[in-house]
Amino acid sequence: MTAPQTPPHTGRVVLVTGAAGGIGSAIAEAYALDGAAVGLVDFDADAGRALAARLGDAGHRVHFAQADVANHAACAAACADIEAALGAIDTLVNNAGISPKHAGKPAPIWQMEPAEWHRVVDVNLHSVFNFVRILSPGMVDRKFGRIVSMSSVAGKAYLDIVAAHYGTTKAALIGMTRHLAGELGPHGITVNALAPGRIDTPMVAGAPRAANEAVIDVTPLRRLGKPGEVADACLFLTSPKADFITGQVVDVAGGWLMT
Ligand code: NAD
Repeated sequence: MTAPQTPPHTGRVVLVTGAAGGIGSAIAEAYALDGAAVGLVDFDADAGRALAARLGDAGHRVHFAQADVANHAACAAACADIEAALGAIDTLVNNAGISPKHAGKPAPIWQMEPAEWHRVVDVNLHSVFNFVRILSPGMVDRKFGRIVSMSSVAGKAYLDIVAAHYGTTKAALIGMTRHLAGELGPHGITVNALAPGRIDTPMVAGAPRAANEAVIDVTPLRRLGKPGEVADACLFLTSPKADFITGQVVDVAGGWLMT
């Protein structure tokens, strides 16, 4: 008989942004089930508190902090709040993101409102700077950290189902991942990105049916992805099995694009 194994993230303190959403809540729950204490950050306080209550009632160590990830001071306050409740954060999942649509369609660049462009860059890209800037000093001091950011296949190839701000920020996250992996690697910190294809979450639920079917038609595995499948890849990248993997972008896309 083999001894029961300790879940790989036991003892870890993980912060997940956009934790109340489709992919973020799956990631947060997967970490909790894998033994981690989980800090949940989201703009949506009702959904965030409800998730924290559900996971807490199931016996997991979780703490919710409301923040707009685009706001540096709010991110710093959320990190301080979570660290006071759960301990030093060693694992950061930059998942929060938005993809504004108008009647289900992305705005073409010649009609894009400057405020919408700036908001998407702030939420999808500057948020990652915010959390890495706030949490990396502690990780460097402790010589250990795990960072995963949520890019997209739309950051690797042109897709007409998203707007320029979204594709641009998701591509920028890939460049940022590689740069940070280079800077932080000597300090024991790995930095990777995930590039999901089309995942069945509230973000895509608002899309016209034909948009999802068009993606399924060109996806070799012929379906949308599930939030839990993105969570599985995320947990792998921060687990000891991935200790020698950094600066990488892992597609979770059913073979769509394969760029
Ligand atoms: P979602 O819309 O279901 O959830 C996003 C969550 O982020 C929500 O809980 C929302 O409240 C939160 N959020 C949004 N703006 C915020 C802000 N300013 N501050 C704090 N929280 C904020 O989205 P999802 O489908 O779960 O996507 C999660 C991530 O995965 C995003 O970065 C998205 O771009 C990326 N992604 C999604 C897909 C997909 O098909 N769903 C594909 C590729 C990449």
